[in-house]
Amino acid sequence: MLTPKDLDLKGKRVFLRVDFNVPLDEECKIRDDSRIKAALPTINYLLEQKAKVVAASHLGRPKGEYIPEFSLKPVAKRLSELISQEVILAPDVVGEEVLSLKKELKEGQALLLENLRFHKGETANDSSFAQLLAKEIDYYVNDAFGAAHRSHASVVGIAHYVEKAVAGFLLEKEVDYLSKAVHSPPKPYVAILGGAKVSDKIPVIENLLNKADSILIGGAMAYTFFKAQGFEVGRSLVEEDKIELARKLLDRAQAQKVNFYLPSDHIVAAEKDPNSEVKTVNSPPLPPDLMGLDIGPKTVGQYSEIISEAKTIFWNGPMGVFEIEQFSQGTMKIAEAVASSRALSIVGGGDSVAAVYKAGVSEKISHVSTGGGASLEFIANETLPGIEVLSEK
Ligand code: ADP
Ligand code: MG
Repeated sequence: MLTPKDLDLKGKRVFLRVDFNVPLDEECKIRDDSRIKAALPTINYLLEQKAKVVAASHLGRPKGEYIPEFSLKPVAKRLSELISQEVILAPDVVGEEVLSLKKELKEGQALLLENLRFHKGETANDSSFAQLLAKEIDYYVNDAFGAAHRSHASVVGIAHYVEKAVAGFLLEKEVDYLSKAVHSPPKPYVAILGGAKVSDKIPVIENLLNKADSILIGGAMAYTFFKAQGFEVGRSLVEEDKIELARKLLDRAQAQKVNFYLPSDHIVAAEKDPNSEVKTVNSPPLPPDLMGLDIGPKTVGQYSEIISEAKTIFWNGPMGVFEIEQFSQGTMKIAEAVASSRALSIVGGGDSVAAVYKAGVSEKISHVSTGGGASLEFIANETLPGIEVLSEK
């Protein structure tokens, strides 16, 4: 993959797709600016090289119309502070006024377009909208890993209408790490999967069955697998329509000699509630009136031992309802086990990444992905639409 280092940038107008989809509070104040910070190496490099930078991002889901709450105004302000220079916020994404702003840009200046999703053409990957984005643009740089799994106009379409299309430094780093897990990962390769639903993770599990030596299952998805084995799981979350599929995945694991682990004990309660009474039970089956809400200490011990021997670890999905203190221990302990291993460790997924930060171990993980859906899709498909289009160029 080419990066801005392969381009002669001086005086060139560069369209920089970033992921500034930051969380905002009720007053439209930024709650966490880490996504803006993650794009700084690329932005600063482009500006130092005297490019004219036209940055663009989506924010939330305004669904193709202008909604003031989804304006990038607070982002433009924060970005200005972070790069210590003024960032001009365009009044829109396309149109005459924006075009003039693009043309007037000076070397080393940055313009931020308004929310890309104020226009329906963005998510529709509409080719005339993509051409408007590309107007007056020489080069395209994609640094929005978090959006690289979307075939949208600013991610895919635009690349066809510029002279060169390359990856920003954040995208490059994400692809470097995730590729290591996908192409000849050092063995043993241990995948840890949890979270709420099997259905979200089917393509990931299917790919991991071809790659991993061991798959450790936690979270609610464990109960669909138990059900598939014919066990009762009480009131635990089960996807009834995925039981058959879970059975097939279990069969495939056996046929492909992948060690497929399900939890051997559980933290259970009558309700997913901080005040409900908690018990530890061995399993399966689970008592009919209770639901499994975390993996138990015995499972933590078993999984931690397997994790300690791994050379590659991919983790997606919390082991339990980690948002509630009494169901968070399994996830916190597994985070610690991953952090203390010497393996190449990669964590992807919105809630999984939040769990790693909650456990305070993010520094000890080789790579904490900035893209939830994108990292999962990369593990499943080994590429992403936004990456494909860069190599085609
Ligand atoms: P990620 O965002 O990392 O991909 P998911 O969104 O798939 O992860 O799953 C996270 C959610 O799964 C959390 O909100 C957590 O509360 C929930 N969860 C984990 N274990 C259970 C369980 N046993 N029962 C119900 N929900 C669970
Ligand atoms: Mg999630």
